[in-house]
Amino acid sequence: TILMKGDVKRQEFEALNPLLLSVYKKLIPPPEEVLKQRKFLTHLDRLVSRDWGGAKLFLFGSCANDFGVCNSDIDVCLSVDDEHSSKAELVMKMAGILRSDNMQNIQALTHARVPIVKFTDPDTGINCDICVNNMLAVVNSKLLHDYSQVDPRLRQLAFLVKHWAKQRQVNETYRGTLSSYAYVLMCIHFLQQRRPAILPCLQSMQPTYEVTVGKIKCAYFDKVNTLRNFGCSNKETVGELLTHFFDYWASCHDYTRSVISVRTGGYLSKDEKDWTRRIGNERHLICIEDPFEITHDLGRVVDRNSIRVLRDEFKRAAKILHQDSNPATALFEPF
Ligand code: ATP
Ligand code: MG
Repeated sequence: TILMKGDVKRQEFEALNPLLLSVYKKLIPPPEEVLKQRKFLTHLDRLVSRDWGGAKLFLFGSCANDFGVCNSDIDVCLSVDDEHSSKAELVMKMAGILRSDNMQNIQALTHARVPIVKFTDPDTGINCDICVNNMLAVVNSKLLHDYSQVDPRLRQLAFLVKHWAKQRQVNETYRGTLSSYAYVLMCIHFLQQRRPAILPCLQSMQPTYEVTVGKIKCAYFDKVNTLRNFGCSNKETVGELLTHFFDYWASCHDYTRSVISVRTGGYLSKDEKDWTRRIGNERHLICIEDPFEITHDLGRVVDRNSIRVLRDEFKRAAKILHQDSNPATALFEPF
């Protein structure tokens, strides 16, 4: 039989895919960890309702968005209706409650851009961050979670990309690389662009979920259980998708002009966003539009040096996936 070029490619991925899926499976939190988290959250909920009337807790981040690998920290948002206190004061009050409950390693970061209190629960060893009145993070976590329900390949791809980013040390916003949140948005956008598409654009469909947070109206189609067959005419495996994901960021993305936008399901230009100049410390060297806070570029933390680091890592990953005899090991090799 004569092998066509496409067949050779398919074969290349046939060997790769099971390897990557086994890496993915090892990253999934085991049931006992999920149980431990639940136990901790029940305890925290009781504590707050006992000591702080009117305050409510919401889960967000990787624990709520379905993109949590094992041993992730838990992100919690405290919602309180108190116009007289600053976020820093509310964080201090929360720290006091945690202290009275003998939580460990309590640190109130009141001067951070987003004030939080960090601590460890001695019973479960869980690390938790609590922020105040940050409901947009709760809503964007729900959006990510809803996308993850449409096609299982999103969660597989995002776990592998997050794992790669942590191993290669390009998941550190304080050092100019990207947040996990930004990487998941890159994965969603990428799957919206496949032909046939693997994910729809939930924000351009008839809204079934609407909330207003401050001045921002958040609306999208969230009846995702009706979309379970959306991507099924595209047969690409996570091995192929991960390879093309890195190919895209290594050599196809237009870093000079383009903005990726999950909100519109496509691309925008830097010109129309007015993201063409550096303002203060905010450069726009890689542009990722936040789906709700649309003036917000998640790439704004990336600077001249870290964009080079990032692009070199994208190229390294793409090269390994195409050429290496043992790609799954080389790809995730600690930096
Ligand atoms: P990890 O497993 O690495 O902790 P995570 O899913 O918790 O990943 P983070 O990047 O830690 O992701 O962000 C936690 C949550 O905070 C996100 O799900 C998002 O709701 C919110 N968030 C983080 N960064 C931003 C940002 N720059 N703008 C808006 N929301 C953000
Ligand atoms: Mg987190």
